[in-house]
Amino acid sequence: MFVIFGTTSRKIEEEKGYFVCPQCQVLRPYVLASMQTWFTLFFIPLFPVGEKNNRHVECKECSTTFYPRVLDFNRYTVDGQILGEESQVTT
Ligand SMILES: [Zn+2]
Repeated sequence: MFVIFGTTSRKIEEEKGYFVCPQCQVLRPYVLASMQTWFTLFFIPLFPVGEKNNRHVECKECSTTFYPRVLDFNRYTVDGQILGEESQVTT
């Protein structure tokens, strides 16, 4: 019997929301994701064997990836609502 094992790289999605994509220049949905190496048996990922790395932000529309730093200037909530000064006063 053959036992086929190895490793694969999986994308772990950590966070979703809306941001102004520097590429599209308009409000787009994004996903914050990391890559992680997983041990596989018969091509089925069983458990992670490494640290999360390559943390990045991906525009769901144009698929361009950015440094997570791009979210520092994000002023939109997960619903796509703008975080205006008015809402900061009332909260
Ligand atoms: Zn984009």
